[in-house]
Amino acid sequence: MSTATSADTTIRGGEVVIDGSVVRADIAITGGIVTAISSSSIDAPHVIDAQGCLVLPGGIDAHVHLSPAELADGSYPWVDDFESGTRAAAAGGVTTVGNITFPRPGEALADACRRVAEDVRAQAVVDVLLHPVVTEEQHLDPGELTALQELGQTSIKVFATLGAFQTRRRQYYRFMAEAGSRGFLTLVHCEDDELIGHCTASLFERGLADFRHFGESRPDAAEEAAVAQLIAFAEVSNTPIYVVHLSSRRALTACSAARARGVPVYVETRPLYLYLTEELLQREDGAKYIGQPPLRRHDDVDALWAGLRFGTVDTVATDHAPWTLEQKLEAGTSLERLRPGVADLETVRPMLFSEGVLTGRISLARFVELTATNPARLFGLYPRKGTIAPGSDADLVIWDPDETRVVDGSRGESRAGYSPYDGTSVRGWPRDVLSRGEIVVSGGKVTGRSGRGRLPARGSSSPR
Ligand SMILES: [Zn+2]
Repeated sequence: MSTATSADTTIRGGEVVIDGSVVRADIAITGGIVTAISSSSIDAPHVIDAQGCLVLPGGIDAHVHLSPAELADGSYPWVDDFESGTRAAAAGGVTTVGNITFPRPGEALADACRRVAEDVRAQAVVDVLLHPVVTEEQHLDPGELTALQELGQTSIKVFATLGAFQTRRRQYYRFMAEAGSRGFLTLVHCEDDELIGHCTASLFERGLADFRHFGESRPDAAEEAAVAQLIAFAEVSNTPIYVVHLSSRRALTACSAARARGVPVYVETRPLYLYLTEELLQREDGAKYIGQPPLRRHDDVDALWAGLRFGTVDTVATDHAPWTLEQKLEAGTSLERLRPGVADLETVRPMLFSEGVLTGRISLARFVELTATNPARLFGLYPRKGTIAPGSDADLVIWDPDETRVVDGSRGESRAGYSPYDGTSVRGWPRDVLSRGEIVVSGGKVTGRSGRGRLPARGSSSPR
């Protein structure tokens, strides 16, 4: 601890979460950077009183889908762009989002990142990192990785569900191994496409093509099979992989066993799988809960919570892929017409705090690791982000642990206009949020300016 002499802002008297412990301290901020943390009072022209509140590192949600201004064909794949999406993030205490970035046909990965970066710079309220999706054979070229490194982006996304992956696995493996050797992290969507295709066709043949059979079309065996395939690759090549939105006990068991024998496999889960179960799909409005993979059973929920607690799950990220309720229910009539994904950026941290920390299922330290520190390490942002330390970006959340609100997506920042948790009473919300020292949420209201968000240059993935 040290004393700053020239701070422009002080956060005073909060309970600051640092490296897993809670200390009462003042935090000095100068030029957007934390310059000192002190148990004695730090003076500054601007003082934010944090007494009675926790002070947490800004959240990092490594997995979101925000639409660039528009697609090449003029359509919008999701209802949140970088403005509404990052306003929702800020309101939920998330100061960095990782956007899955789809290239247009024929577009290089780095060109896709450059194009989307313009939308970020025009619209975003908080910071953004980009995960370009490897969709075409032309992407499987080490030159693509060099170009991404020059842009400061050090991750790629692969869908095991895409035909291109299934038919060119050997080339994908070679490319992913090259990426890993350069410090990239590869995000993988793990569901076995051939098994899903088989299950879906079988349901159609039996006249069971209603959305209520969505779970049967994508069983946990399909997730486990794809996870096993990618683990085998990670094991033989010592290439780190990051399994997105893991949903089932079986897949988690496979990942945990691999990790125990030293395979570099990292696991993300998603809030949906922590709070909701498959029975909801039988409701008339069940289509509103559809995401890929589908909701699972209580036993899977229990396994994921154990994973959060004991460290076999590394991150909680939203896969924020928002639609309006009308779009969800209209599209959800058949397995052939679905709009997977929900809005969750505003609720991911409050729900996990309320349902996890306040119930004693996870510690406050784990909460911070899962939602800030671990994603910062995995995606090459640590210690600039994901922690509170001298020299770190002043991405800080003044968290009121006693504020109770009932979730109401119609009043949220996301254009989805509903939340899968509508009606749930949640205790513990961000009061004020700072992004690089600037107040972007004040008294629970988003005040940050669109277009202030940046794309921080990232280093190598450095999991602990
Ligand atoms: Zn996703």
